[in-house]
Amino acid sequence: MILIQVLYLIASVLFIIGIKMMNKTKEARSGNLVSSVGMLIAIIATLLQINIVSITEILACMAIGSAIGLYYAYKVEMTKIPEMVSLFNGFGGLASVAVAVSDFWLKTNVTMVQMGIIITISIVLSVFIGAITFTGSMVAFLKLNGKVTGNPITFKGQHLINLILLLVFIGASIFAVVNQLDTSIIIVLTAISLLLGVLTVLPIGGADMPVVISLLNSYSGMAACATGFILNNNVLIVAGSLVGASGIILTQIMCKAMNRSLINVLLGGFGQTITKLEADGPEIIVKEVGVEEAAMLFDGASSVIVVPGYGMAVAQAQHVVRELYELCEKRNIDFKFAIHPVAGRMPGHMNVLLAEANISYDKLVEMDQINDEFSNTDLVFVVGANDVVNPAAQTNPKSPIYGMPILNASKARTVIVSKRSMGKGYAGVENELFGYPNCLMLFGDAKQTIAKLVMELKEL
Ligand code: NAP
Repeated sequence: MILIQVLYLIASVLFIIGIKMMNKTKEARSGNLVSSVGMLIAIIATLLQINIVSITEILACMAIGSAIGLYYAYKVEMTKIPEMVSLFNGFGGLASVAVAVSDFWLKTNVTMVQMGIIITISIVLSVFIGAITFTGSMVAFLKLNGKVTGNPITFKGQHLINLILLLVFIGASIFAVVNQLDTSIIIVLTAISLLLGVLTVLPIGGADMPVVISLLNSYSGMAACATGFILNNNVLIVAGSLVGASGIILTQIMCKAMNRSLINVLLGGFGQTITKLEADGPEIIVKEVGVEEAAMLFDGASSVIVVPGYGMAVAQAQHVVRELYELCEKRNIDFKFAIHPVAGRMPGHMNVLLAEANISYDKLVEMDQINDEFSNTDLVFVVGANDVVNPAAQTNPKSPIYGMPILNASKARTVIVSKRSMGKGYAGVENELFGYPNCLMLFGDAKQTIAKLVMELKEL
């Protein structure tokens, strides 16, 4: 028994060290490995502890689960990671509900007094948070992959219905704690929680989705933590708390980066009440630039900042961007990358892509550090970014992204934007930067265009 607790302690310490290492891009991979080893130790300790009826079944399930996980981890495209995280969160929540309900079945003939108030409360919490996480994550998954519209889905009385459901849940839970948790109550509690998960995520759309995923990630941790109390399993309590706390911290960081309060995000309907014209501002007339002219602008610049965005991920343009960077370095051009906290479709998306292309970490500068440098920069090259450089966030109070911190790309002497068309970004609004006098549009797929740009630049 002491051995088990020591193993759990080692696993918990490894989780904490792993998370700490993820703070730095350089150490993130090793941090992941350290946490995985922690998880393996926790699983072995649990298998040693419980009275296993059939180890074969458990090992078979582990093998099947690991094979599915491994297959998808290798197969999934970078741009689809948020969807995958959504699914993971959802399954985590579902697992917590399954454990809570099965624990209830096991103790179904036991009176509440024998079951204990702590266990009853833990079962109720595990069902509540786990079921909301499950259905909420499934809706987020469907919204992200386009099977359900990314627009907020709202209807009259939505918040009132949610409130009534919540009050019924609280009433039924109190009844269960004071009297006894029975089958009908647990069915009602599970059904309400599943419904609440759907109803709370449906009205949230567009630009708020990353916050929701991060929040659901935190919920899945809290659900696991409650399940830890049901099973009296310390490592589950520790791991669940770590996921819950880190998810909440990430949620807060993202809310700040998008200038959304969490309550505002959760109430949903973001950007619903304004007209399209007010949101988009005046009509935009753009100036186009060709690859040759763009190459000459690079040739004449002494400082360049690249602003990567979601389009770079779609085009897989990070490798040609590295070629461009190497060429500029050879010409002694001061070259940096400006990283917006929510550029792309997941936190750290751009960092991961640029690291994959072997671009050194010290060239990546966070928004707060680089924003003052744009006004002294000759050339800003926007590669598939849109919302994160949209000045409407500062100039148009009617815009849904008004107040969101942005990269001050427009302040550079010249801005070149590489994108395929006048297509909008994730928030679905026009970008007035494209019509600015210092802005030139380099239309075409980012990978192909930058490859041509590199060729041109080599010849200059
Ligand atoms: P964005 O606003 O979504 O814009 C991406 C742009 O890339 C589009 O306007 C598109 O224009 C262009 N594009 C697409 N494919 C391309 C290709 N092959 N080559 C060149 N360009 C291409 O991207 P962002 O500036 O990175 O902003 C991120 C947005 O996503 C924010 O609104 C953020 O709130 C939201 N979000 C962030 C996260 C996160 O955690 N990072 C998660 C979910 C959502 P064309 O169609 O004209 O080419």
